[in-house]
Amino acid sequence: MFDKTLAELAQGLERGDFSSTELTQAYLQRINALDSQYNSFITVTEEQALAQAKAADEARATGNTGALCGLPIAHKDLFCTQGVRTSSASKMLDNFISPYDATIVSRLKNAGTVTLGKLNMDEFAMGSSNESSFYGPVRNPWGTDRVPGGSSGGSAAAVAARLTPAATGSDTGGSIRQPAALCGITGLKPTYGRVSRYGMIAFASSLDQAGPMARTAEDCAMVLNAMAGFDPMDSTSAERDSEDYTAGLNQPLAGLKIGLPKEYFSAALDAGVAEQVRNAVAEFEKLGASVKEVSLPNTELCIPAYYILAPAEASSNLSRFDGVRYGYRCENPVDLEDLYKRSRGEGFGTEVKRRIMVGAYALSAGYYDAYYNKAQQIRRMIQQDFVAVLNDVDVIMGPTTPQTAFKLGEKSSDPVSMYMEDIFTLSLNLAGLPGISIPCGQTNGLPVGLQIIGNYFAESKLLNVAHQFQQATDWHKQTPAGLEV
Ligand code: GLN
Repeated sequence: MFDKTLAELAQGLERGDFSSTELTQAYLQRINALDSQYNSFITVTEEQALAQAKAADEARATGNTGALCGLPIAHKDLFCTQGVRTSSASKMLDNFISPYDATIVSRLKNAGTVTLGKLNMDEFAMGSSNESSFYGPVRNPWGTDRVPGGSSGGSAAAVAARLTPAATGSDTGGSIRQPAALCGITGLKPTYGRVSRYGMIAFASSLDQAGPMARTAEDCAMVLNAMAGFDPMDSTSAERDSEDYTAGLNQPLAGLKIGLPKEYFSAALDAGVAEQVRNAVAEFEKLGASVKEVSLPNTELCIPAYYILAPAEASSNLSRFDGVRYGYRCENPVDLEDLYKRSRGEGFGTEVKRRIMVGAYALSAGYYDAYYNKAQQIRRMIQQDFVAVLNDVDVIMGPTTPQTAFKLGEKSSDPVSMYMEDIFTLSLNLAGLPGISIPCGQTNGLPVGLQIIGNYFAESKLLNVAHQFQQATDWHKQTPAGLEV
């Protein structure tokens, strides 16, 4: 049962092979038995899950159900969940019980999903290895001495270990796609504005976007159907009609034009990863696509630009955590300044403090023009590079990450080498474009991710292109060695 995709589980519920209550109980037992190996959950919401499953079974008995009714899901712990701790994996919010649901949480609840719990992540979504969590690192099911990627590392590990059939994630610079690649699952970062950010704890508001993570593109399409859509509560939410992302999944790829950016296949790319990506592209050619080399000349500049802009926005967003309104408060403050300083000093971890300091510096008088403004100009150049290429090809393909899952501790003392992890992903956030990572091969027994990039609001096309590949190959069906399913 645990090897079934969300779509297969939906059919099982429909046929009456099992009830949502049975399904939910089975997943809860599995989380209980196995998650000590991965640490992918921060909170398991057993009681609530069983109540939701019961309600879903009752709804099904009346015939009044949608595609997701009764299916389990788990949320990254930066989506507010009413009555349940929402920590963003920070000591700062360890005691925070959200009084309301994020829009995507309520949309998925309304669709009848069963929430198994809240998933581990890098603190405030800052990181690429899930090692900055207050609740300890997450371990990769493909090798528990390895990182699952980050910041949605708990989401990716939980799906890969079959502890949940689907999860939500957020992506500010790669946090859905990079962990999806390192854990051998599928993850989609939608176009900026496609999915509401209301109730998602902000990291860098001009880059943040929520999206689905699951084993297949088809499953991601099912989850995105419930997540996406205009939300008046998010002023950056796009006023567009909802789409049915599962409806477009059976388009043949004959005539598809694929661009391969020459900058993505540079010396920094692991040879095994490059080989697997090239094999995957060859598979697309067999499916009828044509391939040409393209150029994204400012690729190298995306890391310096992002690491000015994201910390700048973070330093502003995180100023709300002051020890007064919510979250952690230090013991026995002597005055107001002491309260602020010690609450923030004790509540935030090292990486978060580093970002706040870099961001405050970049925004300060005298440095603003040299850093922040310059980074904004580079952001525009990066966006224009993509627009030019996407005028000429339908999708851009390349590796999601420069290498496969690395060992715990390998990069944690060297922030710059950690930041390099996102070289292929964060340019999409700077440009606001959608991208999907799918498992496309293995090297040294570890999964390799292929990133497919599309034009604004081309989620349907990306999901179809990924789905066609998954119909023709079985990389998405691979299971970590030793994992019982
Ligand atoms: N790894 C990147 C960072 O640390 C991106 C994180 C994210 O997408 N939330 O900022």
